[in-house]
Amino acid sequence: MPRSGQDYLDSLRDGRAVWLDGELVKDITEHPAFRNTARSIANLYDLAQQDGLRDTLTVRPDGAESSVLRAYHVPRSHAELVERRKAFKTWSEASFGFLGRSPDYMATGIAGFVSAPEIFAGREFDGRANLDAYYRRMSEGSLYQSFTITNPQIDRTKSASEQEEDDLYVRVVKEKDDGIVVRGAKMIGTAAVFGDEIIVGTIEPLAPHDVEYALTFSIPIDTPGLKFISRTSYEAGARSVFDNPLSSRFDENDALLVCDDVFVPWERVLTYRDVESSFLMWWGTPAYHNFVHQAGVRYWTKLEFLTGLAILITKANNTYSLPPVQMQIGRLIGWLNIAKSMVLAAESEYETVGGPGGPVHINREIASAHRAMAGDLYPKVLAELKMLAGGGLIQLPASGYDLNHPELGPLVAKYVRSPGHPAEQRIKLMKLAWDALGSEFASRHEQYERFYHGAPHVYLPGIVRDGRPDLLEAFTQSCLDGYDLGDGPAGPSAGPWSGRDGS
Ligand SMILES: Cc1cc2nc3c(=O)[nH]c(=O)nc-3n(C[C@H](O)[C@H](O)[C@H](O)COP(=O)(O)OP(=O)(O)OC[C@H]3O[C@@H](n4cnc5c(N)ncnc54)[C@H](O)[C@@H]3O)c2cc1C
Repeated sequence: MPRSGQDYLDSLRDGRAVWLDGELVKDITEHPAFRNTARSIANLYDLAQQDGLRDTLTVRPDGAESSVLRAYHVPRSHAELVERRKAFKTWSEASFGFLGRSPDYMATGIAGFVSAPEIFAGREFDGRANLDAYYRRMSEGSLYQSFTITNPQIDRTKSASEQEEDDLYVRVVKEKDDGIVVRGAKMIGTAAVFGDEIIVGTIEPLAPHDVEYALTFSIPIDTPGLKFISRTSYEAGARSVFDNPLSSRFDENDALLVCDDVFVPWERVLTYRDVESSFLMWWGTPAYHNFVHQAGVRYWTKLEFLTGLAILITKANNTYSLPPVQMQIGRLIGWLNIAKSMVLAAESEYETVGGPGGPVHINREIASAHRAMAGDLYPKVLAELKMLAGGGLIQLPASGYDLNHPELGPLVAKYVRSPGHPAEQRIKLMKLAWDALGSEFASRHEQYERFYHGAPHVYLPGIVRDGRPDLLEAFTQSCLDGYDLGDGPAGPSAGPWSGRDGS
């Protein structure tokens, strides 16, 4: 059975080097910048042990002695994709969609790696045995894998080896009998400080001459020489759960990873000095599509939460039944159902790896479409809610303490209220809304939804490559071919998809 939340919290008390505001954090389970979020993650592990949820969140693989988190399981049918989706949904609802990199995100990526192990047989280094051991270690231990697979934004016009210094991006600086020494940095380690291990690699293409930078490995977070330089903590800035209900509990943190001459044993290396396998492990295996499966379910959950918030806000303002407001609510419900139906369609149109009976993953065209849709839509959802909420998001006492103040309390109770919503109830709702829509935490979420799957200049051209533009061009060309200067109306003609289901 997967470990308990307490086991998870205990495992965080190691020698990990987490830096915040110039301070080396001694224990993230106690520190005010991290402790509540650590508990929110521990709660996910506890859910997996709960009667009634255990079968949703865990599965016992054929021949295995104990069960593993379902996200680690390799699905082999549509039914197993559906089961995995239910697990994603259960965990994402526990954070209302605000923990993007919960442990199931990368777990499902690892299940993707082992679905196509041949990709790891590089020209100079065969990582397949290490991959197998890695999968067993992570799944059997229900370990939490964080990852940094993006090079820092130093000079985006130059390849890794053309940067002005050699060690700006993680690269190999020494080869030893028992492993390698790496130096350099990677961004952005979301939830990295909460993980058991971090996988370091590169998801974007490297130039052929960048072999020193073409490697992937997974090591414990407390490995000597690993440093995590945290961004501003929204959890630390939260006044209370009442005042900042989301940022006080679901601030998954983002950190710059610095490898300061870190020793990586060979058995932790997955790809090495191989530009092709280091790239294809993300794109040639189902890893990426598995990420979208988890992320698509979480996104749909987040839109459910935000739409529910819009309904509560408009009811509190007594505007809910106004026809224009009904239009806006209708638009939000429509958007969330688009997000939901993309997940369901991507499951139904699943693809198989390596022939019948092999691992399956969600449909790649729909997964790509989701990536394009989700980043563009999220800011519109926020804008719609802000329009509905008006000044009530701002006209709030600085903190819930004012409600209990002998002089201020009665004033706040009198003027900050609406029909059926006494002050405490209204302030509680509007503070939740501001945390989701306007706070620093909310802004970070907007940036997250736009960029966590990569930058548009990378993924949009990718959609063109995978989207069979030739068929679309041929379809429109067939219209042009059906008439000419002076011709009358053309007779019936068949398009490129005729007689097929469009797939
Ligand atoms: C909140 C958040 C959390 C994240 N978490 C993680 C994580 O856990 N692990 C991880 O590995 N990564 C993570 N990322 C990083 C993410 O993968 C990258 O942000 C993403 O790949 C985009 O890269 P970039 O930010 O370097 O943008 P860039 O590639 O620098 O692009 C930024 C902008 O510059 C312009 N631009 C740059 N280059 C070009 C070009 N060649 N052509 C045209 N326009 C260009 C575009 O306008 C583009 O939108 C996270 C990002 C965010 C925002």
